Amino acid sequence: MKSKLVVMKFGGTSVGDASCIARAAQIAASAAGENSVLVVVSAMSSVTNRLIEAATLAESGESAKAQEILKAIRHLHEATLRELALDAETRIQLMSHIDRVLADAKRLCEGTALLRELTPRSLDVISSLGERLSAPIVAAMIAALGTASEPVEATELIVTDGFFGGAEPLMDPTRQRCEARLRPLLQKGNVPVVTGFIGASQEGALTTLGRGGSDYSATILSAALLADEAIIWTDVNGVLSADPRLVPEARTIPEISYREAAELAYFGAKVLHPKTLRAVMPHEIPVWIRNSFAPQEAGTKITAKGRSKAGGVKAITAIGDVSLIALGGPAIVGLPDVVGRTFSTTARVRANVLLISQSSSQNDICFIVASADAKRTVEALREQFSQDLAHHKVEHISLDPRIAIVAVVGENMRGTVGMAGRTFSALGRESVNIIAIAQGSSESNISFVVELHDMRKAVVALHGEFSLGAVEVNHAERSSHL
Ligand code: ASP
Ligand code: MG
Repeated sequence: MKSKLVVMKFGGTSVGDASCIARAAQIAASAAGENSVLVVVSAMSSVTNRLIEAATLAESGESAKAQEILKAIRHLHEATLRELALDAETRIQLMSHIDRVLADAKRLCEGTALLRELTPRSLDVISSLGERLSAPIVAAMIAALGTASEPVEATELIVTDGFFGGAEPLMDPTRQRCEARLRPLLQKGNVPVVTGFIGASQEGALTTLGRGGSDYSATILSAALLADEAIIWTDVNGVLSADPRLVPEARTIPEISYREAAELAYFGAKVLHPKTLRAVMPHEIPVWIRNSFAPQEAGTKITAKGRSKAGGVKAITAIGDVSLIALGGPAIVGLPDVVGRTFSTTARVRANVLLISQSSSQNDICFIVASADAKRTVEALREQFSQDLAHHKVEHISLDPRIAIVAVVGENMRGTVGMAGRTFSALGRESVNIIAIAQGSSESNISFVVELHDMRKAVVALHGEFSLGAVEVNHAERSSHL
């Protein structure tokens, strides 16, 4: 028995072409020298997008265009295989697997075109095909390096509810299947390569965990097998203290807590699928974010406790593609149901509300939604409050798209007096005008709204104020594979 069980997930860019696949296989094979290794893979980058595009074209009857896309996907995989150092027989076997999967895709698209209907269930089947193409290739490359490896379809392992397009795992049956199917392979020193993103309902219908869901696949499998750690191999050096396009001095954060990582996943630093950490939190399994293009970098370790840092601030995040909606007028003080009606309206139009702020004078209530949701939200609110607007109980419902949310994130800010003071003094010095403020009672983030043209200035000022660009001595240990 090897000492540890490590689950490694390789994202789309980490298996994006032949040289990336070779590098990923090398990382997995060399880790397998020391530990038991389970690999989870995404589709090659852009393949899932293209499959969804093919499905949508088929739905609108554009069969020929859909078939063109499938041909391009075949070509990509064929060209990749040609470049990989595999023997002729393996290559032929893989190519016939690819042709079988794409024949399924062709049939599914034809059926969709015929019916002019794309159900969430068939969309899941079509969008899952990219992982079914990539996993056997990665397994073959690991085997070519002399480490036994075999592809396993996650439909055999991850049991989910029947919510197509965003299924949730059922952990008990998942655990049983993983023990039965994966444990014996791992005990033999085999490196199973599992298709990310996919599961199957109890009735056996294929489901997906939502876009970007193979991170979640990796942590679901880590929890099911009680792995010692999970490593998400991606194309950045870990979780950064700010978006490097805004702040060139941004640095990799050595260690953060589950909670901080979840705040960051939500607020812009899109390195992790937001649900990823849910699966491992009860078991306190550490999750690393590492760069498969620079495996010498230590990356970021995400743990239950994180690591405290003076002042507690870990990162500054910003999102610009959001809009502010305000509803106001002195008379809304007397309307006790305004808040309720406002948010039942946003719920009805499925607008995702990112931040809410209401002053205690109750003259005004404002909230932020993704810009894509803004127009329909305002229209629905105007309809909901049409009587009140007519009688001037509500004076205005306004929309401002030229704003941004900036957030200061760090779990140990909790109970540290003066963090808000430092935040707003730093912004004041830079003459950044603050439109609205929200601090959740969790105190692991202070969020505020600024004008879009001040977003960069705000992030740079706060990154400097909390010295997030300073070189930190990296006390965090390294993940099992360096
Ligand atoms: N291939 C899927 C997607 O692009 C899942 C993933 O990459 O995590 O959404
Ligand atoms: Mg992805």
